[in-house]
Amino acid sequence: AEDPKRRVLKDVFGFDDFRPGQADVMDALLAGRHVLAVMPTGAGKSLCYQVPALVLGGLTIVVSPLVALMQDQVAALRLAGVAADTINSSIEREANVAAWRRVAAGQTRLLYLAPERLMTERMLDALARLDVSLIAVDEAHCISQWGPAFRREYEDLSRLRGIFPSVPIIALTATADEGTRTDIEARLFAERVETLVLGFDRPNIKLGIAAKQDSKRQLLSFVERHPGRSGIVYCLSRKKTEEMAAFLEKNGVTALAYHAGMSKEARDANQNSFMTLSGVVMVATIAFGMGIDKPDVAYVFHTDLPGSLEAYYQEIGRAGRDGRPAEAHMLFGLGDIRMRRMFIDDEDAPPEHKRRSHGRLDTLIGYCETAQCRRQVLLGYFGEEASPCGNCDTCLDQAPRADGGAEARTILAV
Ligand code: ADP
Ligand code: MG
Ligand code: ZN
Repeated sequence: AEDPKRRVLKDVFGFDDFRPGQADVMDALLAGRHVLAVMPTGAGKSLCYQVPALVLGGLTIVVSPLVALMQDQVAALRLAGVAADTINSSIEREANVAAWRRVAAGQTRLLYLAPERLMTERMLDALARLDVSLIAVDEAHCISQWGPAFRREYEDLSRLRGIFPSVPIIALTATADEGTRTDIEARLFAERVETLVLGFDRPNIKLGIAAKQDSKRQLLSFVERHPGRSGIVYCLSRKKTEEMAAFLEKNGVTALAYHAGMSKEARDANQNSFMTLSGVVMVATIAFGMGIDKPDVAYVFHTDLPGSLEAYYQEIGRAGRDGRPAEAHMLFGLGDIRMRRMFIDDEDAPPEHKRRSHGRLDTLIGYCETAQCRRQVLLGYFGEEASPCGNCDTCLDQAPRADGGAEARTILAV
């Protein structure tokens, strides 16, 4: 007989094959086990619970931190003919009531909720009376104080396993460092959880780092090498995103800014242009990006040092989701290190937290300064072994030397 998950994959989602890791995660859930799935951005984490939700029937509860992400996922599922609903604060009361009626009548397969909405006594009581088959916690690193995006509302989710003792829980994240991982396990599961860390390599993304000199000029010449392509440029400050976008515009590049200080309308308009047009460069702070699924982003350019190697990895993962050659380029200078150290020292956080943050920063600096293959260092940090990739600046810089002076020959031939 045909594998039911494969049938759902094909009939509902229209895909012929699982991406690496997806089938393992689904099998564990379908066997009733709890799973922590650590997979890179773009790896296809959503399907890991959406397919089992449909195979199992009943109700799957999905916890997600951002209303916009929930709306997108529900809309996409409905397009595929899946009965998905969300109850959240940004939609009209009547729509929420109608959604709840469908849920209570057993018509909804996937219900998307923000953690604070799920963890009210009323909601929990009502859900406990329904046929809940699966609970998915997306962006699960938000539960960890050590993680880069801690959210207080996520903490309460540690009660879930007690409230639904017989329901398998899947936690999903792209943040793979050991500390965050153990923290998620302790908080969400306490006991038996199958942790699957899968496929961190994104070989189509070329990795490069350059010494920061004149970042405006460096950015412009990089962008000009990718004419007509969409790209994301990350800057540390809001002010800088606007300056850089204006500078690119002045030089004939279609560039938009995005940061949390802009009005919601302006942000939405810029995000929308970036998503729907091609050849737009989005110059943004890290406020931009969570859940962005635009397949043809040709590059991610960091004008400043990111917050950690996890953050860097997650940010560059927004490039090349279509599998075509893409590039991640970072400018790195001593000023960046000073700035980041200062951020950590000025943070209102316990000393232990600061110590760990400095440790993370050291790891990132190690990555920037390595003479080894960058991908090896990056994947090694996430626990994956790899051989030299041939698609990073350190690999490529070594190539001509290894071949016995190709450069010299070129010069002599002139
Ligand atoms: P993540 O949450 O891991 O960042 P998503 O779940 O948003 O990733 O999926 C990223 C993209 O990959 C989506 O466009 C999704 O439709 C696509 N995708 C997921 N699984 C498959 C598959 N098995 N075959 C083809 N495309 C897939
Ligand atoms: Mg996701
Ligand atoms: Zn390499």
